[in-house]
Amino acid sequence: MAFLERRLLSKSSKKNDGMIEQDGISNKKQSQIEEKNPYKYYSFELNSQSYREFLMKNDLYYAIEKDEMRVLYQPIVNLKSGEILAVEALVRWMHPDWGLVLPNEFIHLADETGLIIDIGKWVLREVCKNYKRWLDKGLPPIKVAVNFSGIQFMESDFADKIKTIIDEYELDPKFLIIEITENILLKNTYKLNSHIESLRSLGIQIALNNFGKGFSSFAYLNFFKVDIIKLDGSFIKDVPFDSTNSAIVESVIHLTKRLKIKMVAEGIENWDQLSYLKHLNCHAGQGYIYSQPVDLERIERILARKKCKPTIVNNTGESLTENRRKFFRIKLPLSLEAVLEVLEVKGNQVNIGKTKVLIKDIGPGGLCFISNIKFPARNEIILQFTFQLLEEEIKVRGYIIRNREVKNNLNEYGVEFTIDENERVDLIRILNQVQIKIRKNIMFSEGSFVSDSDYAYFK
Ligand code: C2E
Ligand code: MG
Repeated sequence: MAFLERRLLSKSSKKNDGMIEQDGISNKKQSQIEEKNPYKYYSFELNSQSYREFLMKNDLYYAIEKDEMRVLYQPIVNLKSGEILAVEALVRWMHPDWGLVLPNEFIHLADETGLIIDIGKWVLREVCKNYKRWLDKGLPPIKVAVNFSGIQFMESDFADKIKTIIDEYELDPKFLIIEITENILLKNTYKLNSHIESLRSLGIQIALNNFGKGFSSFAYLNFFKVDIIKLDGSFIKDVPFDSTNSAIVESVIHLTKRLKIKMVAEGIENWDQLSYLKHLNCHAGQGYIYSQPVDLERIERILARKKCKPTIVNNTGESLTENRRKFFRIKLPLSLEAVLEVLEVKGNQVNIGKTKVLIKDIGPGGLCFISNIKFPARNEIILQFTFQLLEEEIKVRGYIIRNREVKNNLNEYGVEFTIDENERVDLIRILNQVQIKIRKNIMFSEGSFVSDSDYAYFK
């Protein structure tokens, strides 16, 4: 909460009329933002969670102008042949204070504020721009699936607007798959149906996202013509061992075959799930076993290979998306020596030397270290830690979220990482191995461990 209060003071100052003034942007931009930004008032009674949402909502208004949105791509693969059939575009928000913000944290805010319309258009333009680049590079003409919220479908002339954007890039609309999530669908079935028909007449395919997760998945199949069903990842979890989920998966595969609808299984993470789905002749799938969502350059390298091979990166069954804040922590049997560097202060790169610290515990989300130096808990100070674990040299970045003085003039700090998902997956892979080794051998010490007490080390 202290951090939030500080940010309130530094980022926004309260004017006499109760408006929040945002610094760091020009007056012209400021007034444009204020014109379209209804979230200018706030109450001091807001609790920290809603206050965080309040800040995020405000920042979301100019996230596109400030070039903070990114699109990642995840391959959708023919399970039998390994051929890449499509990629799904997944938006990310690189927030200057909060770091990487996943869509589950901000899409609902974008829906509430109506900003999803602008974000959706930006995502589609980005996808069209990249798709054109892929064609120009001679990459295979796969399809691209883009997620849309219900609010976007409520726009008049929705299909025309999509077509206009695609035309800007001189692309054939047939490359596009529009994914709709069922929770939005039943609000205005007539309007929605006519949009879906218009889109389909352009050659755009419609996919029903997260199939089975809501209450009325089957009803939609009656109301709308869909081309693809994406079976929600929650049903893939624990197959073939969970008999209920296995029965559901088998039934949906059977159903889609009868209805001549293509099916994509979401969230495939391990060999058991994959071989089970293959055995059931499931057509296509996506998941970390093939690739996590990756940036433009990495997806281009994957597309150039035309096929995507399954490889296990994280077989814990944990979802990076769902469990980002609930990561496990490994309590290390000995202190791990690391070199700490201050990389950035308020967005400016600095070079103010290095110091050694001792890491006490570490997880994919952050670490805890001891130092004899006092550092402030500020998210605008980005630190880098370099250390050895197993045979590997690891570098992680993050900022201090808590500090406290422990005995002998030493300080203990909690750090939250600002690493991207790919780096996190790499880190999880190493930490999983460390965890197994520690379980097997209490005296595990493969890395830059020191056996001194904290006091003796810093003395
Ligand atoms: P979704 O459409 O169901 O997308 C699949 C989600 O599962 C993605 O989460 C993806 O990163 C994650 N995922 C992929 N493979 C695996 C796996 O093997 N295991 C697990 N546990 N998860 C996996 P992400 O990227 O965080 O997106 C969350 C949701 O946000 C999406 O769910 C979609 O509904 C929404 N979303 C994403 N991008 C956009 C967008 O541009 N516009 C709109 N309106 N919604 C979006
Ligand atoms: Mg989707």
